[in-house]
Amino acid sequence: MILRTLGVAGSAPRPDSPASTYLVHVPAADVAAGIASGVVPDDVEVRDWNVVADLGNGGLGYLQRHVSLHTLDAVALSHLHPDHCADLSGLYVHLKYHPELGSVRTGVAPHLPVYGPADVAQRAAAMYGVHPGETMDEVFDFRTWSDQVAVRVGPLVVTPRSVYHPVEAYGLRITGPSSVRPGEQVVLAYTGDTDYCASVVELARDADLLLAESAFVQGRDDRVEPGIHLTGARAGRVAADAAARRLVLTHLPAWTEAAVVLAEASAQYDGPVTVAVPDGVEEL
Ligand SMILES: [Zn+2]
Ligand SMILES: [Zn+2]
Repeated sequence: MILRTLGVAGSAPRPDSPASTYLVHVPAADVAAGIASGVVPDDVEVRDWNVVADLGNGGLGYLQRHVSLHTLDAVALSHLHPDHCADLSGLYVHLKYHPELGSVRTGVAPHLPVYGPADVAQRAAAMYGVHPGETMDEVFDFRTWSDQVAVRVGPLVVTPRSVYHPVEAYGLRITGPSSVRPGEQVVLAYTGDTDYCASVVELARDADLLLAESAFVQGRDDRVEPGIHLTGARAGRVAADAAARRLVLTHLPAWTEAAVVLAEASAQYDGPVTVAVPDGVEEL
């Protein structure tokens, strides 16, 4: 499993990065090794698989550096703040109106699965501004998360976990075949947006890689009400309490310095900690 941290900015794009956009890529070789060892069901097609976890402002651009938008297998949205889903509108245009591959030209409806909170279909339509009588349903197959109810996308199992944020929001626990230890299973835990809570610790339990938002800074943001974001320190606590094997900090807004949250997290967690870079890559 390969994680591409395409957009790592929180709240809005930064000068150097799109907003939250992550590509989870499983190469065909990992699928084959997983089937051979029994960690992937043998009815899964042996090919590359691509799931986009969140698609924030600007993320669609970086995504095209690595994969054709027409071969995505699913979009998995943690929640519906614009920095996590704004580029769904652009993806709709690509899949529908691309001059050779768009569904208007081919006559083949993509029905790309888009997982999200209860109102994901309505919000996507409102964001795009569908005209009277227009529906997005032929392009997107909207599906809603239920807390802790896993969904399978080829070789991946994605389990949403309700977290602590002002709107309906989920962390995503993604299990799939390893790229660094072929034939083994690995766990990627992505917090989405959340404050510290018991469920985000459960989400991250024993994860091989915890991708944790750390938008807030100790001191500076102490007077903000609880239930919005992690600080670097709170992300470190989640990693330590969950016994995660590696911590990658992300979702830093333009006004938060990487060195500050990195130092906060390192003071709470003994394992390896890094700050995600735009268009970065992590192998699991
Ligand atoms: Zn956010
Ligand atoms: Zn949010």
